[in-house]
Amino acid sequence: MPSRAGRRWAAGLAGLSVAAVAGQVIGLLDRESGPWITILTLVVLDVVGAVCCFRAARRSGTKPGAWWLIAAGRLTEIVTFGLYAVAQSTGGTFWLAAMMISRTAMYVCFALGAFGAGLGHFRGRRRAALVAEVGTVLGAGFMAIWYVALEPVLAHESPRLLWIGTIAWPLGDLLMLTAVAAIILRGAVTRFAAPVTVYTVGIGIWAVADILMTRTAATHSDVGNMVAGWMLIAAGVLVTAAPLVALSSARDLSHHPRITKAPAWSTYLPMVAMICGGLFMLAVTLIERQFMPWGGLVLGLTLMTCAAAGRQMLSLRDSRALLITDALTGLANRAGLDDGLDRAMKRGEHPAILLIDLDGFKLVNDAYGHAVGDAYLVHVAHQLRGGIRGKSTIARIGGDEFAVLLTEIVNDEQAGAVCKRLLASMAAHPVVVDDDTLPVRASIGAAVHEPGLDDKTLIRRADVAMYQSKRAGSHGFTLYQPGMVDRRAADAAIADDLQQALGRNEMKVVYQPIVDTATGHALGAEALLRWQHTVRGLIRPDEFIPVAERSGTIIPIGLWVLEQALIQLLACREEMYISVNLSPRQLREPTIVHDVLAVLERTGAPARRLILEITESALVDDNSGIAALHELRSHGIRIAVDDFGTGYSSLQYLTRLPVDILKIDRSFVAELDGSPEGAAVTTAIIHLATVLRLRTIAEGIETPAQADELRILGCTTGQGYLYAKPLTPEELATRVRAEKLSAARTD
Ligand code: C2E
Ligand code: MG
Ligand code: MG
Repeated sequence: MPSRAGRRWAAGLAGLSVAAVAGQVIGLLDRESGPWITILTLVVLDVVGAVCCFRAARRSGTKPGAWWLIAAGRLTEIVTFGLYAVAQSTGGTFWLAAMMISRTAMYVCFALGAFGAGLGHFRGRRRAALVAEVGTVLGAGFMAIWYVALEPVLAHESPRLLWIGTIAWPLGDLLMLTAVAAIILRGAVTRFAAPVTVYTVGIGIWAVADILMTRTAATHSDVGNMVAGWMLIAAGVLVTAAPLVALSSARDLSHHPRITKAPAWSTYLPMVAMICGGLFMLAVTLIERQFMPWGGLVLGLTLMTCAAAGRQMLSLRDSRALLITDALTGLANRAGLDDGLDRAMKRGEHPAILLIDLDGFKLVNDAYGHAVGDAYLVHVAHQLRGGIRGKSTIARIGGDEFAVLLTEIVNDEQAGAVCKRLLASMAAHPVVVDDDTLPVRASIGAAVHEPGLDDKTLIRRADVAMYQSKRAGSHGFTLYQPGMVDRRAADAAIADDLQQALGRNEMKVVYQPIVDTATGHALGAEALLRWQHTVRGLIRPDEFIPVAERSGTIIPIGLWVLEQALIQLLACREEMYISVNLSPRQLREPTIVHDVLAVLERTGAPARRLILEITESALVDDNSGIAALHELRSHGIRIAVDDFGTGYSSLQYLTRLPVDILKIDRSFVAELDGSPEGAAVTTAIIHLATVLRLRTIAEGIETPAQADELRILGCTTGQGYLYAKPLTPEELATRVRAEKLSAARTD
């Protein structure tokens, strides 16, 4: 946002520009006063420009040097005009020579000012490369200046004092053009509204106008003189505008020179200069009627130069593409993503970032080798390409991490819809390796751009969301919400404390009855873990189970829960069962069957009274667990799919999995409102279970209406706050005893 003072200055400059144009128009009508009007306009611009530069230098704090040099340049131009006026009125050569020296100093000041603005320091080979590139541009510039300005003077005039000016001025222009080329080649010119861009364009026009003026002075061309005058005024306005841009915004002359990320067009400058130089030589050979004997030679050389420059441009394009492309998948890499995001931000294209982390990729790599791992990644890249429409950048930014840059995303819903589409497409297209089908699953974090947000913050937000998604379980997405914190540090602390939690007796198991919804009597109970931390108080399973899962502590803790639950089971009625959650990590343990059977044996609990709950993603993610489930089932243990319907798994899996019960996730139960739409998913699950001869248990029943609707739909078993919250072992025992008594009474 421009400051108030900045707006005032900008308005002043606009007024000045209008006055300058008016002056030039008057100059057109009155040829006598024309040059003086141009000089007067330039002097006024110089005064305003110098004042603005002083102010910008004072504001800039750390690097005022470039502003001081530009201010000095403008002052020397005023001095030059003063000396010109004196020389004109006195006719003395001394004043003329002084004027020449003063104007030469102006070029030096402007050029040094440009060099000081945003050039930074290159080292070693990169510095040599820059010098070579600037040298190429300098060579082409010298050819033009030689023909236009130097040669006519040197060939036609005898040496005298004024030579200083006639030779030094074109060389001064060349110096300014070199400075322009150096700034462009460094990649400092990336935004139009930056002081360095305005200044660079300004002195570029200045130098060209000056060369034109020298030429027209020799040829006495009125039109040329007029065009040069207009150009000089435009250059004066731009060089004045540069400090104004700095004053009206927070940017300084050397603000963020993007040295490493020069825009593509700027790197082509030396090649363009080579081609121009060659064509220029050819043109001069023709204009000067020197075709014999030079024509053929120049033509050949020009052809060579153009071909070499063209080849060089292609190589540059190739190496640029290599720099921003991921070799394995052909997607963009991190640099390509950064480029795309940078561009989308600058153009105001409403970007959003999705960070996609594959779940279980390491397992694929470990089990099938790197060649299959690579093919898997290429498959994912293909899925992403197919799932994303319109102008977006898709990148692989790490081993199994992908990113999608979306544009024209104005709200979370749009980003969420893309996430859902991608997850569904991945789930529907597993990778087939020989006889095995490897599911493709991922955790996605998404962040939508907001005004004022920079690219780094946007990516960090997506990363925070991705971590949340990852810890919430496999194959899901999380949209960044304001206030969402990066849980990595907190999780690390929890992981530390978890090591000692069992030893310190901080873990407790509570039991939520699973009831017959017709009678409300408990048929069984689900064991749910609680962590009573000595300092932090009660920590919910959602907070610590994902951490225990990652760190592996879930393995001893899970077996401990199983043991506690089986001990508790023995205190219940004989026909009751106990349901214990088994985490994906536990299922992957090679000794899991042995461990579960050992606990059954130790406690003396019968296997038919145990249900193991496994989340859908654990079943789908890892084929190795399925064999273990088959074995557990062969011992009479039943398997339930927990939170069924939330895992994006293909239903095809279900027909092949060793499963007895589907637990309908509470999010679907919460939707039951008597309408067919609300009951859609629950109805589908119950139908599916009937066809596959599975039983269903509804989770999270909170109202009698939900229980009634579930019964009508065909599900008569469930758990939820309507019947009981998770109970302590004592509370459960009391409840079971009471039910036993009431059952005995009714008998
Ligand atoms: P889950 O296995 O789906 O467990 C059901 C969750 O729903 C429990 O949350 C339970 O307290 C809650 N719940 C039950 N009825 C209602 C209701 O009517 N309304 C609402 N809003 N919620 C209800 P809890 O105890 O916080 O457990 C959360 C999750 O943590 C569990 O989801 C399970 O995935 C995991 N978990 C808990 N204990 C263990 C364990 O011992 N081992 C493993 N691996 N995971 C566990
Ligand atoms: Mg459960
Ligand atoms: Mg559940």
